[in-house]
Amino acid sequence: MTVVKDTGVRAPLPPFAAEHEELRDSVRRFVTREIAPHVERWEAAREFPRELYRRCGELGFLGLKFPERYGGQGGTHVHEAVWIEELSRSGASGGVAAGLNAHAQIAMPPIFNFGTEEQRQRWLVPGIRGELVGALGITEPGAGSDVASIRTRARKVAGGYVVNGAKTFITNGVRADFLVCACRTSEEGGHRGISLLVLERRMPGYEVARKLEKLGWHASDTAELSFTDVEVPAENLLGPENEGFKLIMANFAWERLAMSLGAVGAMQRVFERTLAYAKEREAFGRPIGRFQAVRHKLAGLATRIDASRALTYHALRLFASGAPAIREVTMAKLFTQRALVEVCDECLQVHGGYGYMREYGIERALRDARLGPIGGGTDETMKEILGRQLGL
Ligand SMILES: Cc1cc2nc3c(=O)[nH]c(=O)nc-3n(C[C@H](O)[C@H](O)[C@H](O)COP(=O)(O)OP(=O)(O)OC[C@H]3O[C@@H](n4cnc5c(N)ncnc54)[C@H](O)[C@@H]3O)c2cc1C
Repeated sequence: MTVVKDTGVRAPLPPFAAEHEELRDSVRRFVTREIAPHVERWEAAREFPRELYRRCGELGFLGLKFPERYGGQGGTHVHEAVWIEELSRSGASGGVAAGLNAHAQIAMPPIFNFGTEEQRQRWLVPGIRGELVGALGITEPGAGSDVASIRTRARKVAGGYVVNGAKTFITNGVRADFLVCACRTSEEGGHRGISLLVLERRMPGYEVARKLEKLGWHASDTAELSFTDVEVPAENLLGPENEGFKLIMANFAWERLAMSLGAVGAMQRVFERTLAYAKEREAFGRPIGRFQAVRHKLAGLATRIDASRALTYHALRLFASGAPAIREVTMAKLFTQRALVEVCDECLQVHGGYGYMREYGIERALRDARLGPIGGGTDETMKEILGRQLGL
């Protein structure tokens, strides 16, 4: 069969334009030079240097979507999307991407979206410069998928709140200077009576109880935090009191889209390495990619990656245009996170024993990928949301 060779290289399609492709090139250069060569060392050390936040801030990568008056680049979510996808595509490990993105994609947006001018000056401006690092604290030992059952209590007192409780699995929890924290501010149960408070590491009673060991994302820190009579001034309340649940749900949309974009970048990288390997590694006198079983596997993976990208870019187009996008974002999150695990697993298989070895980076990609169907809302939670959208 004669087939015209099509490498899949295309001119940028909306929402991407030439300016985004320029940004993509500069992110690629930065990650290739300043992140990828150090990733293995950072993974082994179980952290990347804090200095990396400052460096990303200096280059403008932490503030792409924020207005220039706060030190941002005045871009849009589409610029941000380029950064997120390309970070993974060009060789940041899951842990490095998670540490940078927990700050820029999930901790800073609520400050910008729901914060006052004073709050933006206090946390967003130094956050965009990479001088302060943020984290988002929703999950608790007794409340993960069921966000409405959180128990961390913020008791109202003159001038503010006194917070008692605990959070767990918090990305950047060890090094974060500020934590956007979901607390219960009324006696009412369920999703009513939840508020977002910004807690600061320097506050007496705020303690990093434990740094957690985990399967992947080794270069990022994941912490258990405990709060004992932490006095939080009223000016640290983010958004309206008792309206936090809605704000948390609003924040999830971008977090899930960001995870989808990261997965698309990561799967593309693993696939390209595997394709090259399949062309070069020989068995039984020919490159393994010439065996139909391997060729079909790679054809199937390429299709899956394009499907992931199409679903994600479609969700991005809607989200960035301000149109309702919960359904599409949820589908993209559900599809891409599982697809990434499967792509990594199949690519490891194509590498044979070498795939199992550290030096090829495929085993790390697979370990890192496994968080996707859990973090930012599990697969089952995504299906619950979609089921409700279907009226079920
Ligand atoms: C590495 C890592 C980093 C994280 N970073 C952060 C962070 O920065 N900030 C933060 O707040 N959280 C963070 N999380 C927490 C993450 O969001 C939660 O782990 C996730 O929401 C699931 O909650 P859970 O672990 O308590 O599982 P549970 O809610 O206890 O769920 C256990 C299982 O039951 C299933 N289940 C639950 N309810 C239902 C249902 N109604 N129907 C069907 N199945 C159901 C779940 O899908 C899952 O399979 C992180 C987690 C990890 C592992």
